Formats: sequence, C-alpha cells, structure tokens
Amino acid sequence: MAKVLDSFLKENLDDLKSKGLFNVIDPLQSANGPIIKINGNDLINLSSNNYLGLATDQRLKEVAEKAIEEFGVGAGAVRTINGTLELHTKLEDKIAEFKHTEAAIAYQSGFNCNMAAISAVMDKNDAILSDELNHASIIDGCRLSKAKIIRFNHSDMDHLRQKAKEAVESGLYNKIMVITDGVFSMDGDVAKLPEIVQIAEEFDLITYVDDAHGSGVLGKGAGTVKHFGLSDKVDFQIGTLSKAIGVVGGYVAGKKELIEWLKVRSRPFLFSTALTPADVAASKKAIEILMESTELHDRLWENGDYLKKGLKELGFNIGESETPITPCIIGEERLTQQFSRRLYEEGVYAKSIVFPTVPQGTGRVRNMPTAAHTKEMLDEAIAIYEKVGKELGVI
Ligand SMILES: *Cc1c(COP(=O)(O)O)cnc(C)c1O
Repeated sequence: MAKVLDSFLKENLDDLKSKGLFNVIDPLQSANGPIIKINGNDLINLSSNNYLGLATDQRLKEVAEKAIEEFGVGAGAVRTINGTLELHTKLEDKIAEFKHTEAAIAYQSGFNCNMAAISAVMDKNDAILSDELNHASIIDGCRLSKAKIIRFNHSDMDHLRQKAKEAVESGLYNKIMVITDGVFSMDGDVAKLPEIVQIAEEFDLITYVDDAHGSGVLGKGAGTVKHFGLSDKVDFQIGTLSKAIGVVGGYVAGKKELIEWLKVRSRPFLFSTALTPADVAASKKAIEILMESTELHDRLWENGDYLKKGLKELGFNIGESETPITPCIIGEERLTQQFSRRLYEEGVYAKSIVFPTVPQGTGRVRNMPTAAHTKEMLDEAIAIYEKVGKELGVI
C-alpha cells in the first residue's frame, strides 16, 4: 500500500474509533423480515425499510425465480445497447400507471437515480433550492450537476419563497429547481408539497420530489405526491424499488418528454448495466400487489400507530412523525447508543442515530414498524422498551 494511503487510513480510522463514530456492521443470518437473526440471536427487527414485508413475499419470490429461469441472472448490457428486456419496459409502464404519470424510467438504485436525473437536466448555469435535510443522494446528485446549490431551512416555506425570489431576481440562472424528500426519514415528517408547488408555479421552478420513504406508505400506497393530489404538478417524481417495494432499484416518473430525455442523457442509464431480470419481475409484481389492494398499506399504518401509542403511553418522546417512522428521542449521544445496545441485548434491533446524522442532543433510536410485524412482536418490543427505559432513567 502507498505510504500516504496507509497513513491516511490509520489516522482517520483511529480518529473515528476514538470518537465512538466507527460503525460496526452486524451481518444478518436470516432474511430481513420482522424477526432477524444476528450472532445466533433472534431479534425483533425495527430497523429495515421493508415497510410492507414484500422483501420476503412468496409472490415476489415466485416471479423472480421464473424470470431467472427464462431470462437468466443478468441483463447482459446497459439499457441503451441491448440490456433492455421487455420486462424493463413493462416495469416502467407499470410504474407510470402507479404514479399517475405519462411515463417512467427505472435505474439500478434510488441513489443512482438521483445521480442520473438531476445532472441530466441541471448544469453550472442553473440553481437548485434544496431542503437542508435532504437525503445524501440528493445532495450528491446536486453537486454532480455543478448547479449553484441554495439550501433552505427545513420545510420553512417563507425561507424557500425568499430564496426563490432572490435567485430569480439575481438573473444569474437559466433554470431553477426546487428539490425535496417527500417523507424525511429521520423524523418521519412530510414535505409541504402544496406550498412548494405553489411557490414553484409563482417563480417557474422545476419541481423534484424524492419519495423514497413515501411510496407504498402515503397516498394509499401511491406516495406523497398522490397524497396531496399533485400528480400532474410535480415534474420529477423519484422513488425507490428498495424500500416499500422490497427489491432494489430506483425510478423517475413524469412527462413523456422528460423520460425520453433521461433515456438519452442520464449517465447511469447509458453506462451502467440494467437491473437484473429477477429484480425487475419482483418489483413489477410488488407494484401490482399495491395497486390491487391496500391491505399491506393499512396493516403498516395500524402497526405504526400501535407502536407509537405504546411508546408514548410509556412516556417516551416520539417526536412529531406523520408516518409509521417512529423515532424515540433519547437526547445525549452516548446514552442513545447505550439505549440501543441494551435493546439489542434484550431482543430488539433498533439502531441509534446520532450527530452528525441528526442535530446534536437529539440522538434517537429509530423504529421502522412494518406490515409484517404481529401485535405480539410489537407488544414484546414495547415491554422491552419499558424495561430498558426505566433502567436507564429515560422514562
Ligand atoms: C433511501 C433513499 C434513497 C436511496 O435509495 P436506494 O434505492 O436505497 O439507493 C434515495 N433517496 C432517499 C430520499 C432515500 O431515503
């Protein structure tokens, strides 16, 4: 190893470890369902984004197996050479139908999708108004575009309006975009899309909503944009196939011309191999299930409400979530980590999230209830929360 690299790694790894910020990964010895096995222990899983339990759904597994039999395990090329199977276009048609848009384009992941879509449209002569709590992939996608990034305070519509007005009046930019998460994953709050769309109309802003945590969850499953009845008012509807949909991949849904442009200009579509047949078949099946029935969606909300009520009654601070995402705010960083560790020892897997991911002093254990949890599992988790909460003086 080059000496400079060796010393760089040593210094920085030691620094992280000494500050308690070095993340140790626990490999799962089971599927990522409501109960997971780690180090031989069965734990109630409150950490996955598998909102509807579809990651282990029998119907998805069957179509994935069938797709492998028929089309193999790999797509064989990038989409624009000859890696586009009919399966891909069928998935894209299904996404468009699901999102109530003219067309859609699928990418290899949600992260990849933000790398692809923003820089296909925005460049150094443009500006992007970005909520300060936007996901890392949005931030990186914005940077990649070289557009001027103008942050606005989280969900602060007066601030957004002021920044939009300044950007327009400066005359410096050809195009201006406003970009936001649909659901913010750390607190479970929902973007103020009606106001954002109104401001966008006033200043002719391009609208971009990344609904990774909203699809399958809000709008009876169709997402945050549908929830607010704004399907024809948002230019870019981004989603992931990896959370509620349970598989892997990302997409943009929007007008036909936008999708046509992304298919010729977004680099991960042109230069990275297409989603595998199994992923595509399983994702399409998941969307069909969501469109046929709200059963899983309803169970997710029931479970979310049940967990929230239980933790709140015990006296925990569960923040202001408007979705099933249930933060349990502990505060001090070390206490938060200790809390999460004790939950683990008692049989609940819920990760601690601390500064710098969330503001200092608002360390939390974040709970992601899913449609696959039973009431018994949630009752047991709540009982463990009570035990650990009392032991550590949090309640
Ligand atoms: C999780 C997430 C992504 C990344 O999606 P993947 O499909 O896991 O790559 C992108 N944007 C937001 C807002 C997310 O929450």
